[in-house]
Amino acid sequence: MKINLERLEKNLKELSQFGRNEEGGIDRSLGSEAEEEARNWLLEKALDMGAAIKIDAMANIWINWKTTNCDNRPITLGSHHDAVPDGGMYDGALGVLIGLEIMQTLKENRVPLKHPLQVVSFTAEEPNPFNISTMGSRGVTGKLTLEQLQASRHLITGESLTAALKRAGGNVQGLLKAQLGKNDMAAFLECHIEQGRNLYDSQLSVGTVAKITGIYREFVTVIGEANHAGTTLMSHRHDAFLAAAQAALAVEETAKALKRRDVVATVGWFEVSPNSANIISGNTKFIMEFRFPGEPVKQQLLQRIDKEFYGIENNRGICFHREVILDQAPAPMDEGIKKIIGEEISKEQAPLSPAAEESSGLEFIDHVPMLVSMAGHDAVHMSGITKTGMIFVQSIEGKSHCREEKTNSKDIEIAGNVLLNAVLRLDKELTHENLN
Ligand SMILES: [Zn+2]
Repeated sequence: MKINLERLEKNLKELSQFGRNEEGGIDRSLGSEAEEEARNWLLEKALDMGAAIKIDAMANIWINWKTTNCDNRPITLGSHHDAVPDGGMYDGALGVLIGLEIMQTLKENRVPLKHPLQVVSFTAEEPNPFNISTMGSRGVTGKLTLEQLQASRHLITGESLTAALKRAGGNVQGLLKAQLGKNDMAAFLECHIEQGRNLYDSQLSVGTVAKITGIYREFVTVIGEANHAGTTLMSHRHDAFLAAAQAALAVEETAKALKRRDVVATVGWFEVSPNSANIISGNTKFIMEFRFPGEPVKQQLLQRIDKEFYGIENNRGICFHREVILDQAPAPMDEGIKKIIGEEISKEQAPLSPAAEESSGLEFIDHVPMLVSMAGHDAVHMSGITKTGMIFVQSIEGKSHCREEKTNSKDIEIAGNVLLNAVLRLDKELTHENLN
């Protein structure tokens, strides 16, 4: 039994039309018309397949299919359908559509499964104008509060998150009822393009994920003093923008100083106020982010950043107001699922030579690459409530979060078949006994 690559690629192409901009990128964040269109397209696909649909409080889309009358918990496949601004057509979409393809393949082949099969497309996984990323998976795993959701507004349009979720079929008030417990799912599997170039550099199609990085984000407001750009002496200035710029460089230095492959830091969002050529900025906001492998490294980074920021405050007579908006621990993947995915990968993918394995800098178990994901995923949150595993597919030149994102057909096909066989294995091997 094999997945139907042609159908899967046709679906990828169709979904990629929603939000496609003139430059060829995809704009599809929560609240946009394109995101709504993508949802409707997905729902229609599911209905065409004869699957049952549920939309939960967070507007996550759950597509269910049951072959036998069993009361086992479902095996769930999925990812997300939203995209970063000017993003590509594989990030998220591939995981959802590979899930649907597997469901359809099993259905066509009339395979009786002991577990119901479920495909989920999560709401707002990517950083978005509501400032809550992996929103859907965090919502259903109990990591967001009603107050937090109700307070959130679209940074540009001002629309409340409550209203945006309602338009998408969700209902913020139902948050508690939508939360998943440890007994609601047998396993969760997410297929995703590798957001990095490990697989590309080694010319491998797929790899299994051993661990997902921790992510820490702060929303920093720098309060200085707005004043006339001509009449204020250089020595009299309290320039919020320059303090923020200096802070951004300090964040970079702090991460570089650790010299680790699994530590990165970024300031990727700035808002300068009043943002005028002849006014010294009195208020500048930025988001600082870093990714880390464990708590001690995080503390090390924070201590140094505290010190640097304190120095900038003193030097420039400004003030940093820091608010933690994300503090997510690293998530190891389930050992049993890692093993199954690994074994299925070794059946579909030719191993590298020992020398190539050696020079890749990657960890291999039985010739299958064990990757650390430096990008966050919905799987992080799902790993808190169920056995979770991930499979990565090569992205050409490691590109992601950009319109150039591309994955070869042969790699998609291998990923699809690995996942299909992993689902069949899990269906057989997961029992109530070994789950609890
Ligand atoms: Zn993604």
